[in-house]
Amino acid sequence: MLRKVEGIVIRTIDYGETNKIVNLFTREMGKIGVMARGAKKPQSRLTSVSQMFIYGHFLVQTGTGLGTLQQGEIINSFRGLREDLEKSAYSAYIVELTDKLTEEKKTNPFLFELLYQTLNYINEGMDLEILTYIYEMKMLNIAGIYPKLDGCVHCSKTQGKFAFSIREGGFICHRCFHIDPNLIQISPATLKLLRLFYYFDLHRLGKISVKDTTKKELKTVISSLYDEYSGLNLKSKRFLTQLDRFKP
Ligand SMILES: [Zn+2]
Repeated sequence: MLRKVEGIVIRTIDYGETNKIVNLFTREMGKIGVMARGAKKPQSRLTSVSQMFIYGHFLVQTGTGLGTLQQGEIINSFRGLREDLEKSAYSAYIVELTDKLTEEKKTNPFLFELLYQTLNYINEGMDLEILTYIYEMKMLNIAGIYPKLDGCVHCSKTQGKFAFSIREGGFICHRCFHIDPNLIQISPATLKLLRLFYYFDLHRLGKISVKDTTKKELKTVISSLYDEYSGLNLKSKRFLTQLDRFKP
């Protein structure tokens, strides 16, 4: 069946001398793999639309197995995501996380919108770390992780001083600190942001300014959750960690 879909290129693999297999995350069909014949040749009409992070309309021939890319039309090339080292590294992580956590042909328009909006914000130069933390918080459920963020994970109380318990999977209040010897201490700002990132609509993101110490706490909590529960070990994430070491 020939279908026109709106999608974003989230992975490309060279196939033979001249072809590429392209993974698209689409609004209509979720993640799909398509063969782009000739896409490695510079003069092919599929070359420019088969690059990483391209957002466009794609005409695909679908069947039971791998589909075929017939044609593509770029809506936004997200060029900045390929040309800037940092933007490219963060975007690579965002799309790899999406790729690894989603199944083929499982439609999820909300996730499509989230992915598009996140890449768009990265392209526009918004805070890369904050966008990444928001994306990670929103992907937790897709990864099968449901942290308790609306009260203490042990006694459900909503008042008091809070820390984060990876083992218990959520906020924990001072009355219950004793049940986990490996708590992560967090500031009230971090608590607020973790909750905000998990629940709010990304469309409503305005200018957001977060202190470095808060960012560090956010990173510790979110990375620990993924390390403990997701079973993922992503190459793009390791690269981000290396990149981090070169920051002044
Ligand atoms: Zn408690």
